[in-house]
Amino acid sequence: MGILVVGSVALDTVKTPFGKVDEALGGSATYFSTGASYFTDVRVVAVVGQDFPEKHINFLKTKRVDLSGLSRVPGKTFRWEGFYDFDLNKANTLRTELNVFETFKPELPEQYRDSEIVFLANIDPELQKSVLGQVRNPRLVAADTMNFWIESKKPELLETLKLVDILTINDAETRELAGEPNLVKAARKILSMGPKTLIVKRGEYGVLMFNGGSIFSAPAYPLEAVFDPTGAGDTFAGGFMGYVASTMDWSDGNLRKALVMGSCMASFAVEDFSLGGISSLDYKEIETRFREFKKLSHFEDL
Ligand code: AMP
Repeated sequence: MGILVVGSVALDTVKTPFGKVDEALGGSATYFSTGASYFTDVRVVAVVGQDFPEKHINFLKTKRVDLSGLSRVPGKTFRWEGFYDFDLNKANTLRTELNVFETFKPELPEQYRDSEIVFLANIDPELQKSVLGQVRNPRLVAADTMNFWIESKKPELLETLKLVDILTINDAETRELAGEPNLVKAARKILSMGPKTLIVKRGEYGVLMFNGGSIFSAPAYPLEAVFDPTGAGDTFAGGFMGYVASTMDWSDGNLRKALVMGSCMASFAVEDFSLGGISSLDYKEIETRFREFKKLSHFEDL
């Protein structure tokens, strides 16, 4: 079963201590769908402007990504500019230009409306809700967001969250959304806002999943070469949701495996700028890294 995703398709300008890219392919929907495409078919809902390079469309077409819901309209493509210092866990935003997203009113293609699995990637929460409202019978809805939306559209975000089963956000966003510095208390608060499962992304410290009463922790892969953390969160979500969609099993045990699959995909994403780390992976490489993850945190009982 495929996944429907709504999110940004962007041109990113990013500087890290290891280099810089100008107007490179980025966006939450782009990273998500590339990551998920190793496991399942993906249907994208997004918008780009006339200035969006055709080569990026051609790249996405090489993946299992259906672009019939990607509109091209007059105007400029969404742009994001940011930088990272040596602490690669923290993205510093210099500029967010919504451009064509400001007036985007998506109409889902008919063949998208029967999607059972939906991912509301990081974008305006009103847009997330309007896309979800056009899906007839969603069985599993997951979402992401960021401080930009928590600060500028909190009431709208809270409305969207009521419809979400699984929320994936980072630790700073967890604290900010809940208005609570303690992560465990913050998670409990967020689980009363709608989601049944909260996945907290903690950069190089790994991921924590609060699923009903259970808590699961997965490490991040200890990499020697990290070049650009941009898109790690979205690629994580792509691997996670892609695995869930390919198994159609959201029991706690399977969500744990999916969480490690997401972490695997994120570890590839940070090894290069833009989509470079995940553009042409072999499924064997993914399996090998998954098994390395298992070894990394396996220990015997007392
Ligand atoms: P992350 O996985 O959190 O590193 O996401 C990085 C991607 O999010 C970049 O490629 C940006 O284009 C995109 N992005 C940044 N700010 C926003 C925003 N306010 N809304 C939607 N997408 C964004």
